[in-house]
Amino acid sequence: MRLSRYFLPILREPPREAEIVSHRLMLRAGMIRQEAAGIYAWLPMGLRVLNKISAIVREEQNRAGAIELLMPTIQSADLWRESGRYEAYGKEMLRIEDRHEREMLFGPTNEEMITEIFRGSVRSYRDLPLNLYHIQWKFRDEVRPRFGVMRSREFLMKDAYSFDIDKEGAVHSYNRMFAAYLRTFQRLGLTAIPMRADTGPIGGDLSHEFIILASTGESEVYCDKAILDLPVPGADTNFDDAAGLQSIFDAYTTPYAATSEMHDAAAFAQVPAERQVSARGIEVGHIFYFGTKYSDPMGAKVTGPDGQERPVHMGSYGIGPSRLVAALIEAFHDENGIVWPDSIAPFNVALLNLKVGDSATDAACDTLYCALGARGLDVLYDDRDDRPGAKFAAADLIGAPWQVIVGPKSLSDGKVELKRRATGERTLVSIEDAVARLT
Ligand code: ATP
Ligand code: MG
Ligand code: MG
Ligand code: MG
Repeated sequence: MRLSRYFLPILREPPREAEIVSHRLMLRAGMIRQEAAGIYAWLPMGLRVLNKISAIVREEQNRAGAIELLMPTIQSADLWRESGRYEAYGKEMLRIEDRHEREMLFGPTNEEMITEIFRGSVRSYRDLPLNLYHIQWKFRDEVRPRFGVMRSREFLMKDAYSFDIDKEGAVHSYNRMFAAYLRTFQRLGLTAIPMRADTGPIGGDLSHEFIILASTGESEVYCDKAILDLPVPGADTNFDDAAGLQSIFDAYTTPYAATSEMHDAAAFAQVPAERQVSARGIEVGHIFYFGTKYSDPMGAKVTGPDGQERPVHMGSYGIGPSRLVAALIEAFHDENGIVWPDSIAPFNVALLNLKVGDSATDAACDTLYCALGARGLDVLYDDRDDRPGAKFAAADLIGAPWQVIVGPKSLSDGKVELKRRATGERTLVSIEDAVARLT
């Protein structure tokens, strides 16, 4: 992508309304634009990151055996009357009336709708286990939308829903998602700690929140440092091996880890003092087992091996890709801007032409741009007629993991400069070596 032809509205002045660094940097780097309170347009660079996160989430859901579909954003109020949640959900639900005065709503979550889909076609235990998910926009009329996309009203959620014949099967499904979440967050470059959590309005008796430690987090959390040293399940994890998954779950739930709602001060006091972590955290994922809470009132039943009908056991599993964009920036930035991990960087390389119009510099940049692009890298080529200082600042702000700096001085020795954004380390290399090092 040539920056001169891209849409990247960088702000020169730090935006005043932003209280936390990720919100400030997302606005400054032209990733999002606020359209109404808690409602954001995703500008091209923000969308790139959001899509990269969603792609990793999707790959790990698929690996764990979940199946993607897509449900609508608008739902019928009648569906929610069946579960009893239409009144119970309260003011966070955005209620809508259509031209025929039918009551509709913008979905804050999809337990009711997926239960309706399930009961419409699944009849037998032979069709189980089943896990269906989608990645879709949600709306919650948050009392206090703030921190940009960290707590917005419209936000993207991956929500999966599992169906099993009994509790034992449902626990296996729960453990599949538990392991998939550990893998997902690791691939994003994050350490997310599963913590015993309250089930809230979703209901149920088994629940974990996945929390990233961050001083700007809204949750108060307590854990044993030992949990940070546990191995993350590999890509070769067998998701059909119930015992294997149970041992991963057991290993991660043995050390103390709980959010403030579930905190047990006496149990925490048993953790050796040097291993006690009491910190703030960001909730990036949340998994629940809630049994027959929806299948019972909504009549989602299957026939068991004995020919008897029974309500199906369900769980639901959320991740917030849009909140994750902000959470990642909270974790990966310095005083000059964003420092993207390689796995989710919007561009792999920022190519800086320090003297646009100089024929040798232009030619070297063209060569690099084409060679890196041909090798599958996403390159943002700063070909604007601007001062080097402005280009350095923009590249650092945007945070591509690598910068290739091309100026007439080093080019007269046949060299370009390679800079690693995270460390600031710079090396002079030939054009060929630059291509080789980056691919
Ligand atoms: P919170 O405690 O932050 O309000 P929640 O517990 O209400 O979140 P869940 O119902 O568990 O959220 O939804 C699953 C995931 O969706 C959350 O873990 C989070 O990643 C994301 N999410 C929820 N609310 C928002 C929001 N207002 N803005 C952005 N992401 C959100
Ligand atoms: Mg909430
Ligand atoms: Mg919560
Ligand atoms: Mg939650």
